[in-house]
Amino acid sequence: MSRAYNFSAGPAALPEDVLRQAQSELLEWNGARASVMEVSHRGKAFIALGQEIERDLRDLLAIPANYKVLFQQGGATQHFAQIPMNFARRDQNVDYVLTGDWSEKAAREAAPYANVRIAASSASTNYDRVPPRSGWDLDANAAYVHVTPNETIRGVEFQDIPEVGNVPLFGDVSSTILSRPLDVSKYALLYAGAQKNIGPSGLVVMIIRDDLLERCPRDIARIFNYAENAAQDSMLNTPNTWAWYLAGLIFKWVKAQGGVAAMERRNCAKAELLYGYIDASGYYKNPVEASARSWMNVPFTLPREELDAVFLKESEAAGLLALKGHKLVGGMRASIYNAMPLEGVQALVDFMKDFAARNG
Ligand SMILES: *Cc1c(COP(=O)(O)O)cnc(C)c1O
Repeated sequence: MSRAYNFSAGPAALPEDVLRQAQSELLEWNGARASVMEVSHRGKAFIALGQEIERDLRDLLAIPANYKVLFQQGGATQHFAQIPMNFARRDQNVDYVLTGDWSEKAAREAAPYANVRIAASSASTNYDRVPPRSGWDLDANAAYVHVTPNETIRGVEFQDIPEVGNVPLFGDVSSTILSRPLDVSKYALLYAGAQKNIGPSGLVVMIIRDDLLERCPRDIARIFNYAENAAQDSMLNTPNTWAWYLAGLIFKWVKAQGGVAAMERRNCAKAELLYGYIDASGYYKNPVEASARSWMNVPFTLPREELDAVFLKESEAAGLLALKGHKLVGGMRASIYNAMPLEGVQALVDFMKDFAARNG
């Protein structure tokens, strides 16, 4: 068996140490004489696991005490709809900042539940930047402002958290959570699908400021109501126990690496190596404004489209997987989440150099 360097955008590579531990515990978890997938979520051991994963996440992100942590299902996409269902009235304005395809989708899914306003958008420049805060047209009475701090498809990342006054700031951090320190207190709500930096798909981590939960309306089904889910410790129904367990292993792994500060140093070095080479190459190109380049997702193009297929075939043979760009963008994309070591990025750069020399 040979595991290759996997640049998949999501579901993405998991740390090998974590997979080995899961493998070693697969038949019997925690002395239960059964796997973690085969025990009751209401049992003592699993409840303790739930408490531990929450504690570890709180430690990692220094989540203030007045925030609830929820572990939900349905993917980030379901919560694109569920968030306005909980936090806006149908006739109320909600402000969306569009910096790519995920924020577009978030706005589209919100439309049945609130009056969606586009407060700012970089669509006219093909989502190559974050629109400067000074140009945002925010409504001071909006129920919330929604941003996507890292756009996974185009590789556009906010470098700071925007000031939006008294309106609650919501962030879809699916593809950037745990990649560097994050000031949770600047947001009223953060959410992330797990399959980029946290674990397997089918799990969504949500961090919600207490006072917001008072807004959750009584006329939606309990299963969609975040206040109900918070009151039941995310166990209104059977959670994705396997995903909780793996997320727990990932949180321990990030802690063992030195936490999010260590992740930041490593991710910065990886991004500098890859962008540095792309810019110096005169061969590959990344279209994103330098100030908005993502540390997690790096799209790049080759000088001629007909080289794409050859690049993909040869890179895969060289042990570099899943470099095909998203169909909306074309070209290549290297996703270099926490689990990608610097050596993997170095191997990619070495391959790119060699490929450029052979296909000038
Ligand atoms: C992957 C991703 C999503 C969608 O996640 P699903 O779990 O497929 O719904 C949403 N937002 C961002 C920023 C993503 O990267």
